[in-house]
Amino acid sequence: MSQITIALTKGRILKETLPLLAAAGVEPLDDLFSSRQLIFPTSRADVRLLVLRGVDVPTYVQFGAADIGVSGRDMLLEESADGFYEPLDLGIARCRLMTAGIKGAVRPSGRIKVATKYVNIARDYYAQRGQQVDLIKLYGAMELAPIMALADEIVDIVDTGNTLRANGLEAREHIADISSRLIVNKASLKTKYAPIQALIDGIAAALPPREEL
Ligand code: AMP
Repeated sequence: MSQITIALTKGRILKETLPLLAAAGVEPLDDLFSSRQLIFPTSRADVRLLVLRGVDVPTYVQFGAADIGVSGRDMLLEESADGFYEPLDLGIARCRLMTAGIKGAVRPSGRIKVATKYVNIARDYYAQRGQQVDLIKLYGAMELAPIMALADEIVDIVDTGNTLRANGLEAREHIADISSRLIVNKASLKTKYAPIQALIDGIAAALPPREEL
């Protein structure tokens, strides 16, 4: 019996992923949120779970260290990894990638400073629009950058917009709609076709119909 390894993204995506896995007959044997373990056995002897930082999930699947992954589309766009298929839009952890700046402030003319953890996405986006930018890589609390005059704009995830509002910022331009995707290593799909395809089908059956997403 071949082992199937599924790489999951920590945090809010994980909470929304577990019911989909359960619907496909995969339930972790331990509490993923309180344990310090990194590899988790499941109710299926042939399936184990890894719980990773989102940015690392495409890498594990690309190199076949995990057969399947659940990854935010923001990570897939930013990391531009390959070597995997993207068979399902899970429709979970939905949000938008947007530019944002201080409410009411006019964007300075000429070159602007943009702070973000999504430097590749931001570089492409502003280049397409012919806007010259200096990119500043941050790892968190992007909202602080315009307030402290570190940057004129940020590129960040927006869900309700509450975080921006609470910090006196406003969303400006929409870059991309984001949701979590199921990704599958190309070689794994060949070598472990039947069990992997059954998992994909099980998860797909648990998703709401497209028009309700
Ligand atoms: P909100 O205040 O609802 O607009 O949420 C904004 C913050 O929550 C963002 O700065 C993100 O860090 C985080 N966030 C919201 N939705 C997601 C998501 N689907 N995936 C990852 N982070 C998210």
